[in-house]
Amino acid sequence: MSTKYVFVTGGVVSSLGKGIVAASLGHLLTERNYKVSIQKLDPYLNVDPGTMNPYQHGEVFVTEDGAETDLDLGHYERFIDTNLKQANSVTSGRIYSDVISKERRGEYLGATVQMVPHVTNEIKEKIRNAAKETAAEILIVEVGGTVGDIESSIFIEAIRQFKNDIPRNDTAYIHVTLVPHLKAADELKTKPTQHSVELLRSKGIQPDVIVLRSDKSIPKALREKVSLFTDVPVTNVIESKDCKSIYQVPLVMQREGLASCVLAKLNLEDKKPGLSVWNEVVAKLINPEYPKLKIGLVGKYTKLSDAYISVSESIRHACAAQDHGVEIVSILSDDLDSYARAEEMLCDLDGIVVPGGFGDRGIEGKLNAVRWARENKKPFLGLCLGLQCAVIEFARNVLGRKNANSVEFDSAAADPVIHLMEEQKDIEDKGATMRLGLYPCKIKPGTKAHQAYGLNLIDERHRHRYEFNNAYREEIEANGMVISGTSPDDSLVEMIEITDHPYFVACQFHPEFLSRPGKPHPLFSGLVKVLIQQGNELSQKAS
Ligand code: GLN
Repeated sequence: MSTKYVFVTGGVVSSLGKGIVAASLGHLLTERNYKVSIQKLDPYLNVDPGTMNPYQHGEVFVTEDGAETDLDLGHYERFIDTNLKQANSVTSGRIYSDVISKERRGEYLGATVQMVPHVTNEIKEKIRNAAKETAAEILIVEVGGTVGDIESSIFIEAIRQFKNDIPRNDTAYIHVTLVPHLKAADELKTKPTQHSVELLRSKGIQPDVIVLRSDKSIPKALREKVSLFTDVPVTNVIESKDCKSIYQVPLVMQREGLASCVLAKLNLEDKKPGLSVWNEVVAKLINPEYPKLKIGLVGKYTKLSDAYISVSESIRHACAAQDHGVEIVSILSDDLDSYARAEEMLCDLDGIVVPGGFGDRGIEGKLNAVRWARENKKPFLGLCLGLQCAVIEFARNVLGRKNANSVEFDSAAADPVIHLMEEQKDIEDKGATMRLGLYPCKIKPGTKAHQAYGLNLIDERHRHRYEFNNAYREEIEANGMVISGTSPDDSLVEMIEITDHPYFVACQFHPEFLSRPGKPHPLFSGLVKVLIQQGNELSQKAS
């Protein structure tokens, strides 16, 4: 079967949840046994989001082949349970830089290089390439931004042309818009949708399906109105009302017939999706009856929940799998400016997670949190920078090396317990120069890590520049910190833990990129199991 393409655009406003609609469609098609992949086209000029502040763009998601991508790729992977690749994430910056490299190499010799056809051809090539690399039967392509933005217009032009390059029934276009509710008039308004579709049509794209985002149910008469103004059959004007959990969206989209509309346009057989497992997983994720754990996330981008989205999702997956709900408490590390303050802010939490991060702001607060968790035997999971903080804190307060630090924060640290590897020392470029992507890790038998994974060798995704300094290995181990995971040749420390503690585990990699609903990651499950066990012991004592 030749690949079919589904393009998802957005209108009216950004942050509509286009990515979740694309991911939900992916889920519904996967459950019908189609081989699906999802690609994101991002309009910004950064070659990838790796150098952007999380407040600009939310979390940077990392694929197994080491691409630093938009956080929507995380949603895609979690919804279609498939590992994606560099080819699934394309930005304007990547497109322009590839076009300019080709021009310099003389590949367009003789031609004036132009937006159309050279840039549009490059975009179309990247779309076909994603289909080829992922061997997708159906490739869903989400165009970032909103129709009408100057930035995304070249992508819109490329996807307009795309339909003429292949048979008509090989493409489908979905447009996601907002139907606002005006409180004063108590009315839902379709005019922004009408205008947005008009704009899309003026660019040569007639949508096949319109998804109306709203916080209220949209009556049939309004859908008919949208249908009348847009030439989209009313059956294909569907509603996506706000849900409690993003994982409910595929179920809502199934009821609304999203996948059936798309399959009809693509001339593909509609099959009955096997949604029973997903139904069960979602029921657990939203069960209001479950007892709730309180887990603190100590980071520096806490004002934007998207900045740690994979970490929060991993915590939710792990809790739900063990019949628990969770309240994730965001704690700004800058606020933990003393040990006493850390104690005050952390004492009624069940457990603490210190996620990844860059730069020295908030580091001392994270170190206070780690010390408090270690000394008070509070279950703790450290991720990437979280491991580095655990090592620095241990060196300072257990080894008595008061000036221990990472060279990231103090290049002249007296005790550089976290340092730069030789091969990193001469690198000046900041983009895509870290240790990125999947690396193997050997787990030490008899450790909590081994108990969690039940395996001797694992593969995990990395994104960091600095590493544990082996010069301190012996001293650290002699004082009670166990190196529970290393690279297979033993040269890199990948995991640490403390034996005399209910759960003090940290890893140099990012386990949050591998957790999926219904398939929680072992390290998060390990943490949650200990929290539940401690809760049970407490309630037994109380009775
Ligand atoms: N800033 C640290 C490093 O580069 C940690 C990175 C991270 O947490 N992802 O090594």
